[in-house]
Amino acid sequence: MKIVLQHLTKRFPARSRKSRGEVTAVNDFDFEIPDGKLVGLLGPSGCGKSTTLNLICGLLAPTEGKIFFGDDDVTKLAPENRGVGLVFQNYALYPHLTVQKNITFPLENLKGAQKLSKEEMKERAYKVAKLVQIEELMDRRPKELSGGQQQRVAIARALVKMPRVLLLDEPLSNLDARLRLKTREEIRRIQQETQITTVFVTHDQDEAMSISDLIVVMKDGIIQQIGAPQEVYDNPSNLFVAKFLGTPPINVFSGNIRDSRLYIGDEAVLKTPGITAGEVLVGIRPEGFLLSENGALSCALTRLEVMGRDVSVISTNPACENGTLRAIINAEKTPSFSAGTVHFSLKPKKVFLFRKETGERIECNPIPLAEV
Ligand code: ADP
Ligand code: MG
Repeated sequence: MKIVLQHLTKRFPARSRKSRGEVTAVNDFDFEIPDGKLVGLLGPSGCGKSTTLNLICGLLAPTEGKIFFGDDDVTKLAPENRGVGLVFQNYALYPHLTVQKNITFPLENLKGAQKLSKEEMKERAYKVAKLVQIEELMDRRPKELSGGQQQRVAIARALVKMPRVLLLDEPLSNLDARLRLKTREEIRRIQQETQITTVFVTHDQDEAMSISDLIVVMKDGIIQQIGAPQEVYDNPSNLFVAKFLGTPPINVFSGNIRDSRLYIGDEAVLKTPGITAGEVLVGIRPEGFLLSENGALSCALTRLEVMGRDVSVISTNPACENGTLRAIINAEKTPSFSAGTVHFSLKPKKVFLFRKETGERIECNPIPLAEV
């Protein structure tokens, strides 16, 4: 079931006369979530992720715009009639009910033709419990479960009505780091097995990148970019997106274009044919640096951090935004020095130019200096 958002907008009125005017939490969202895909809504706290999810499930009514599930306009449909399964950060299980009763709870009140017998409910509960691998725990109560198990129960409960759409709002935030990794892989598996169109909300770029077919990067209620995770990483549309994706983060320098070359400080580092002269911001991914004796960019080495497969070369350059930059080098090419000046050449595909005033991307295919 595809989900279509058409000019979807949600404004909240000012809370009091003292508070700053109204908030546009979701500003003209216009995109399609393809059938059977997992889409990650990604952005910092307060960017409108939960509001978007609540509009899709019907807990909030939009100020403007429409929502379609397939060809059905569901904009005015009550939440219980939309066929959505919801999972929140706090699992919101009923403490006095067993796992099985928690899972069947949404089935208890089905009416008419949808009404199920006790046996049918049990069967359905067992089926989804098996899918999320908690079928052994059916008789326990929530307090007898780990956080990860509780979240599985919540997912099972969301799936038991066989929803058309599954919506997850920061479902992993209450789990510890290892469980978070494991559970996100589980969610991916469950989604692929069920093929339910899923919207997954997170502020964690790593989480969104690792499980989504598509990510929607948001800021202040405005969509910044939509695309496959790798595509967005490799081709960010502005500085915000470039900075938001990637660990360690992208390194940002102030730079200058003159004579069709990119300068960082007074060193020309790449050729930039066709780019107008002037000041720019330069984003260089940590993996975009190559240690090379005659590399164009000179930095003062601070230290090396060896992390198994990779080595981080941490150094300083006056043009770098925070002074310090971090380059990731393959450990097999570990340099033998530990102090002094390091020289980097740059991988052109890992270097992005942005307008200094707006942070907008400047389309550019830089080439290494040596090539003509
Ligand atoms: P996120 O989930 O990305 O952290 P939210 O969707 O919760 O962000 O909030 C987006 C913006 O809308 C924030 O500025 C928030 O303060 C505001 N907001 C959310 N819900 C309400 C509400 N019920 N009334 C007023 N403002 C709200
Ligand atoms: Mg939220």
